[in-house]
Amino acid sequence: MIIASNFKTNHTRKSTLKYLKKLEHFVTQSGSKQDVYIFPPATALDPFSLPPRIKVGVQNAYPVEKGSFTGEIGLEQINEFGLKTILIGHSERRHVMGETQKLCAQKFEYFQEQGFKIVYCLGEPLEIREEGIDSVIDYNHAQLEGIDLSYENLIVAYEPVWAIGTGLTATPQQIEETLTKLRQKIKAPLLYGGSVKANNTKEILEIENCDGILVGTASWDVDNFCQMIEIADNLA
Ligand code: PEP
Repeated sequence: MIIASNFKTNHTRKSTLKYLKKLEHFVTQSGSKQDVYIFPPATALDPFSLPPRIKVGVQNAYPVEKGSFTGEIGLEQINEFGLKTILIGHSERRHVMGETQKLCAQKFEYFQEQGFKIVYCLGEPLEIREEGIDSVIDYNHAQLEGIDLSYENLIVAYEPVWAIGTGLTATPQQIEETLTKLRQKIKAPLLYGGSVKANNTKEILEIENCDGILVGTASWDVDNFCQMIEIADNLA
């Protein structure tokens, strides 16, 4: 299973190091078999030396090596830390920062060429969910425009916008139905994200076509996150 944490705009350099130390200890001691991904803020990046099961990635980057893109980071800055994993298309980038599908696709193409592991996010807002499953699938498919689904280093995270950071989780039935329909088009591992917590991790990970979780809020506390990894380890 893939168990991923998105720190968003949380944690400092110091607290990220402390977090990763505890996580490393847990993963090593427990012999966990999960593939763990951590996306800290850019200011906390470092050439981390971690066990192969723990990968650190960037939450965002501009699709250039370097240049005049104030406030952004590019390939040169990521390469300094030897990182090869990126999150693209997170709903906060799309809906808060106004990132278009065209830009998401440009980022995808650029970092695909660089051989990055890409965790590509998609998900519908509430008004689309309320229209029913056909609208949900059409909306999510539109977020796949310009994305090479045959890319071997792709992971797709289905994250309904209305469930992110709201405490509202999609029901297991909604998740299963959506993932099953997305699976017809997407062969890459499929994650679910949206208010996943330790107390709903098991039922979500047991859903057919769910290959893991992308967790925001509940993952910022390392003990909580380790508990989720442990739940995945204990699945039959
Ligand atoms: C996320 O940021 O990808 C996310 C799913 O956040 P949360 O778990 O807080 O809903």
